[in-house]
Amino acid sequence: MDLEKIINNLEKKHPGEIEYLQAVREVLESIEEMYNQNPQFETANLIERLVEPDRVLMFKVPWVDDSGKTHVNLGYRVQFNNAIGPYKGGLRFHPSVNLSILKFLGFEQIFKNSLTSLPMGGGKGGSDFDPKGKSTNEIMRFCQAFMLELWKIIGPDQDIPAGDIGVGGREIGFLYGMFKKLSGEHNGVLTGKGRNWGGSLIRPEATGFGNVYFCQEMLKTRGQSFEGKIVATSGFGNVTWGSIIKATQLGAKVVTISGPDGYIYDPDGISGEKIDYLLELRASNQDICKPYSYEFPNAQFHQGKRPWEVKCDIALPCATQNELDGNDAGMLVENGVIAVSEGANMPSTPEAIEIFLENKVLYGPGKAANAGGVATSGLEQSQNAMKLSWTAEEVEKRLHEIMVNIHTSCVKYGIQPDGFVNYVRGANVAGFMKVAGSMLDQGVI
Ligand code: NDP
Repeated sequence: MDLEKIINNLEKKHPGEIEYLQAVREVLESIEEMYNQNPQFETANLIERLVEPDRVLMFKVPWVDDSGKTHVNLGYRVQFNNAIGPYKGGLRFHPSVNLSILKFLGFEQIFKNSLTSLPMGGGKGGSDFDPKGKSTNEIMRFCQAFMLELWKIIGPDQDIPAGDIGVGGREIGFLYGMFKKLSGEHNGVLTGKGRNWGGSLIRPEATGFGNVYFCQEMLKTRGQSFEGKIVATSGFGNVTWGSIIKATQLGAKVVTISGPDGYIYDPDGISGEKIDYLLELRASNQDICKPYSYEFPNAQFHQGKRPWEVKCDIALPCATQNELDGNDAGMLVENGVIAVSEGANMPSTPEAIEIFLENKVLYGPGKAANAGGVATSGLEQSQNAMKLSWTAEEVEKRLHEIMVNIHTSCVKYGIQPDGFVNYVRGANVAGFMKVAGSMLDQGVI
């Protein structure tokens, strides 16, 4: 594989798509050695076929706000690769959304879904619509307008979107309602559905639970556990919330959360009624950090800063891409961090990852550590197909098993001669092998 030539060609074809090019480079660098040992991959030109999405649907989404004013946002669905199953991946509604970010997320999703061992291909979608400050009726009208285009290319055996940043249970409900009306079908076309109409128990907290289970497996390789550990995390969305609950259940004390405006350090730990309070703030679309510091005066709000300067044993970045840079990684290492497990997608910059690996930190990349979300979406699809619902215990047991298996696959492909596990390499190679084999089996299509 001529990595630089491939990246140069991609840069020429897709100038300025920084996040997408960053994600492709990271994967190609870590699979290069294994790829070169398998000449059949090069003969089939697998890399060039894999790095471009199968197709991208881009559309305008006109909608009317409560005052009667009309707005236009952009909508996207990137169907990246369906070698091992129908396209599967979330929808993100956030002003930062653009094609580069959705292509990076869709590309990552291919390998993540492959790691879960469930039959799911990779895709991603979303819009630059900002749900913040919008009324519920405005959110509903936007979701309905978005689905007017999206429904043409999705289906339970074709492409199954889910939530991501800015798309939770409420949005999935509005999207599903419009899909049902347009198609006349009640099926498993979206995951993250409400409990009464096909949703799976544990789905909202699954990504965070899975992240902590993955981290627990990493810690075990050094004879450690969550018991008594200090944890720093970021954001306070679905992934952060689930991570805090599970880490606390396993005996850790979580001391930070964050928002785009700064972070909260709470030396007493964030759990119990504090979580309920934060969830109330979130449900009413409010900022969380400042109100939290007023409500719990022991907590300090650090405006404009990130939580990675706090001394902790474990860091769980759970907010967004590139939220932990080389400087942050340096502070974490200096403060003695043992493990970093990514609930978010690509939260660590390439410089930060290098620092973690150089310092032999247990570093779990998002595509492995946060795969519990999509895995549980896959379990939701299974329940929909069987027209059954499993208990919370059943779903969590399966989620736990999947995370343990993902960890085992990462160790298999990522273990180094000195015993250190490079989970980046492990996750990328394990995810790639299955997709590559399936693409070879299915011919040039
Ligand atoms: P949510 O929208 O529920 O939460 C995101 C959180 O991050 C919010 O609290 C948001 O604050 C905060 N945030 C956004 N930007 C920043 C920033 N620059 N600095 C600090 N905090 C910030 O999203 P999710 O929890 O669903 O997703 C979080 C991450 O996890 C994303 O990378 C997503 O792709 C990934 N992921 C999610 C999965 C899922 O199942 N939901 C599955 C796998 C990965 P505010 O609301 O104030 O903007």
